Amino acid sequence: MQKYGEPDPRSAVDSLIASDRVPANAHPELLTEDDIWNLLNEVKDPEVPAVSVVELGIVRAVRWDGKTVSVDVTPTYSGCPATELIEELIAEALRAAGIRDPQINQVLTPAWTTDWITPEGKEKLRVFGIAPPQGSSSKLSLLGQSEVIACPHCGSDHTEQVSEFGSTACKALYRCKDCLEPFDYFKCI
Ligand SMILES: [Zn+2]
Repeated sequence: MQKYGEPDPRSAVDSLIASDRVPANAHPELLTEDDIWNLLNEVKDPEVPAVSVVELGIVRAVRWDGKTVSVDVTPTYSGCPATELIEELIAEALRAAGIRDPQINQVLTPAWTTDWITPEGKEKLRVFGIAPPQGSSSKLSLLGQSEVIACPHCGSDHTEQVSEFGSTACKALYRCKDCLEPFDYFKCI
């Protein structure tokens, strides 16, 4: 929180025109590819702000030659309404690091699966109250059979699906029969 009286280094107007800001980093050519990955790891998924786009596994590749950058992004599912916003957030983070005209490529094949979520991402989802996908994107869900989903709050396996769709289309709404808490389950795609 901002203490009263201190000047805000980044006013509301500044953040609105963030993409036109003079880059803070005058020497983007010194960035390494690892730096770019770290930078992208700061970009949060707009639907699940607990995890970054890297942890979610939707950033597939980074090509960086010290001057131009190109990033491959695979949407969580085709038609995900957040995809364009995610691409814009990624480009914005790169421009903020001083990289001009970042190239964001949408890569649709192979399709994203929940297997691409990193272990850190799965743990953050759990802490956030979203049951992380269990195992690999299983054939069970394709066959319409229900899986045992552990409650992210108490760990109980005693859960039931309330609705096929949770807070977003990528999630299903579950309820724990032990602690009675509802939770979102990241559907395996
Ligand atoms: Zn529970």
